[in-house]
Amino acid sequence: MSDSTNQGTLRGRGAVVTGSTSGIGLGIARRLASQGADIVINGLGDAAAIEKERAAIEADFGVRCFYSPANMLNGEEIAGMIAFAEDKIGGCDILVNNAGIQFVAPIDEFPDDKWQQIIQINLVASFHSIKAALPGMKARGWGRIINIGSAHALVASPFKSAYVAAKHGIAGLTKTVALEVATQKITVNAICPGYVWTPLVEAQIPDTMKARGMSKEQVINDVMLEAQPSKEFVTIEQVAGMAAYLCSDDAAPVTGAMMSIDGGWMAH
Ligand code: NAD
Repeated sequence: MSDSTNQGTLRGRGAVVTGSTSGIGLGIARRLASQGADIVINGLGDAAAIEKERAAIEADFGVRCFYSPANMLNGEEIAGMIAFAEDKIGGCDILVNNAGIQFVAPIDEFPDDKWQQIIQINLVASFHSIKAALPGMKARGWGRIINIGSAHALVASPFKSAYVAAKHGIAGLTKTVALEVATQKITVNAICPGYVWTPLVEAQIPDTMKARGMSKEQVINDVMLEAQPSKEFVTIEQVAGMAAYLCSDDAAPVTGAMMSIDGGWMAH
């Protein structure tokens, strides 16, 4: 739960958080709800588990929360998710493009379908959601678009060609849209986390072990935390706090920014 002094600052706002059935997205959805925003959650997963998370957001924070099953591979479903938010929670004032997948392999062995899916979910989906959400934000004269980038939006690591390409694309998309709407009280930023301990990170350990011929401990300490000078994983709560800041009035002049939260990775 967030600091009680922050509660209520987003009352009356509607937030759509893609990929919020797990990990960082769920943490952001819960943080925005704790500040009073009504929420549309989205993502894949077991229906009963999703319903449990949805109901918990309503019960814990006294807001309205709905679930959209839109698949980020499908532009029409993404536009439908934004229309659903307009219908159910009065609009998408806050859009958090968070859904993402990862695949780790040398490029000459990289499966074509994995490349396409990563580009679609981690980059193209944000084009569709922003395109659908902006007219409502412009009409209401306020908006916050938060794209979950990555340290890999700013620098590369080997064996992650599709992910790094998509996240660098997110950096370009963020800056471009920020310029397009800069006079309209709509901000567009990217949060660029280093390694955050989530199911996405845990799942890439076996492939990284294979690609680099390493043990699990070596992957954690010599690959992941090697890049992170703090030698600590970032927490979901810390990323959610940065998203909440970007929704605040204090952050009104922050736009087009790549917000690093990575234990010093970008200082290398
Ligand atoms: P996660 O695997 O825990 O969650 C990913 C979410 O995306 C899930 O809710 C999943 O259902 C959803 N999703 C996947 N494919 C989808 C699809 N086709 N349609 C709709 N939803 C879909 O991952 P996470 O670590 O919380 O990652 C969230 C975001 O943060 C991603 O964009 C990721 O690239 C980024 N990120 C993560 C880290 C990290 O270390 N975990 C670091 C930097 C950036």
